Amino acid sequence: MKKVLVLTEAKYGSLRGVSLEMLSAAHRLADGGEVIAVAIGNEAIYYANELGKHGAKKIYIVGNKELDMYITEGYSQALQQIIDMVNPEAILMPHTAIGKDLAPRIAARYDLGLISDVIDVQVVNDVVIFTRPIYSGKAFEKKTVVSGIPFATVRPNNIPMKEINGTTEIVRLNVEIKDIRTIVKEVVRTSTGVVDLSEAKIVISGGRGVKSAEGFKPLEELADVLNGAIGASRGACDAEYCDYSLQIGQTGKVVTPDLYIACGISGAIQHLSGMSNAKIVVAINKDPNAPIFQVADYGIVGDLFEVVPLLTEEFKKVLV
Ligand code: FAD
Repeated sequence: MKKVLVLTEAKYGSLRGVSLEMLSAAHRLADGGEVIAVAIGNEAIYYANELGKHGAKKIYIVGNKELDMYITEGYSQALQQIIDMVNPEAILMPHTAIGKDLAPRIAARYDLGLISDVIDVQVVNDVVIFTRPIYSGKAFEKKTVVSGIPFATVRPNNIPMKEINGTTEIVRLNVEIKDIRTIVKEVVRTSTGVVDLSEAKIVISGGRGVKSAEGFKPLEELADVLNGAIGASRGACDAEYCDYSLQIGQTGKVVTPDLYIACGISGAIQHLSGMSNAKIVVAINKDPNAPIFQVADYGIVGDLFEVVPLLTEEFKKVLV
């Protein structure tokens, strides 16, 4: 019967899906125990119900004004105070920009081992087993915790969400924040569409084959129809066809969508490491020998400027 603490995350006022996925993982860890969610920001009251429906028994909503924008020092102080109060037996955080920044700091403060980028959590004979991809997603390692409490960051889009009935207690509190040396003046939102790339169920990605910034237009039209997000290879980013925030791969974002459509991307290993765990990969490339076809479930050999608009038209017929 364990007490598991989950740091939830919202972006632009909406709860990120990984928060609910972590609650599902936390229930496996808790094994009938208590799942406690932490939500930073007063807006959390609007999605507290959703957290409750997915099994959060208690939700701490931290309302400090100083934490309206993410600051490592402020968030870590808030989290530390809650950890000290709750004394959890396991901690989960999202493997997002915030989680990746915060988790190592918390791990160091409590002298805990951190298992990052986890895609599955199981408890077998009372032993917690975390699964994480290694070697750019070519293999998976299973990790257990030999000392300290289990502490992991969870990759979005991998653990199924689960609705769990029960009551939820909401606790609103302010924590003590001091000595913050960083001031975040503004967060500039890039205009990369409405769907968040790292959590998107459908990603349409462009490579150097799109040939220009203008060349992303047909991909954006397809993304619009499918309610997908736009991604890119580093080739396309380096060529300045798009912003680096769209880059997928070893030095970019890791995505695990249900459907990944690679347009004019050769399939370099560094790109594959960011998308090869997608459930279905469709590749459009005019070179039949492009390596991307080796990881594709469906391959279309052809000019993307002909194929993509045709796909958009066909999807429009059934979806719009
Ligand atoms: P290219 O390899 O040039 O491929 C373009 C493809 O488009 C070709 O296959 C071509 O046949 C096809 N094509 C051209 N015209 C058309 C058309 N009209 N219709 C259909 N197909 C067409 N790359 C990443 O993507 N992400 C990373 O995170 C990343 N990290 C890296 C880290 C390191 C340390 C290094 C060394 C490299 C990294 N790279 C990364 C770069 C990677 O090695 C490749 O150079 C890059 O992925 C190539 O991008 P691309 O496939 O768009 O371009």
